[in-house]
Amino acid sequence: MACIEKRGALGGTCLNVGCIPSKSLLNNSHMYHQILHDTKKRGIEVGDVTLNLKQMMAAKSTSVDGLTKGVEFLFKKNKVEYIPGTAAFSGENEVKVNRIDGDQQTLRAKNIIIATGSEATPFPGLTIDEKKVVTSTGAIALDKVPKRMVVIGGGIIGLEMVRFAEKDKYRGSADRDSRDLFGHV
Ligand SMILES: Cc1cc2nc3c(=O)[nH]c(=O)nc-3n(C[C@H](O)[C@H](O)[C@H](O)COP(=O)(O)OP(=O)(O)OC[C@H]3O[C@@H](n4cnc5c(N)ncnc54)[C@H](O)[C@@H]3O)c2cc1C
Repeated sequence: MACIEKRGALGGTCLNVGCIPSKSLLNNSHMYHQILHDTKKRGIEVGDVTLNLKQMMAAKSTSVDGLTKGVEFLFKKNKVEYIPGTAAFSGENEVKVNRIDGDQQTLRAKNIIIATGSEATPFPGLTIDEKKVVTSTGAIALDKVPKRMVVIGGGIIGLEMVRFAEKDKYRGSADRDSRDLFGHV
């Protein structure tokens, strides 16, 4: 059994740039928001509170690294070969891998599972640079808090981004009801 992954880390979108990092940021920004606006009236007073986004991002990366390395360990333990690289079909029962280390490798198998996930669809004429125009992947790795942020798409991921941004005092764009409704995300 072998698993080819082009990202350079196991765990797919969920562990690397999806569920886990977004929940880490949501959790920690929620804590920040609570200390700023909620704990005083509960009898917990703290001194100056500042947002250290760099540290918040580092905490997120620690969680992600721990989990992706955990999957790698489980692969080894269960004798699943992990091949870091990009796969393409070169025959009905054959895939060629351009390995991250620069080598090429061909694998043959009776059964091949395609589990390549999905990617954000860019808008025509708008270049995603993951700095100013970002997907959720760029949004969870910003190095500073933007003054204003517009989220296009009110699906669950868009609402998560608004929720995180709102907690960190970005000025997100989603209507109040949606924010309240999805406040538990
Ligand atoms: C911000 C965000 C938050 C989310 N939160 C949640 C949540 O709370 N709960 C939840 O259930 N879901 C959540 N999701 C959705 C969840 O992450 C996805 O539904 C899930 O990861 C999809 O799994 P998958 O295996 O289909 O694809 P993926 O996880 O995307 O895995 C596909 C993998 O294939 C690799 N790949 C693609 N092409 C090739 C190739 N040619 N060769 C080698 N490798 C290749 C990719 O690099 C990728 O790692 C979230 C997603 C995002 C973006």
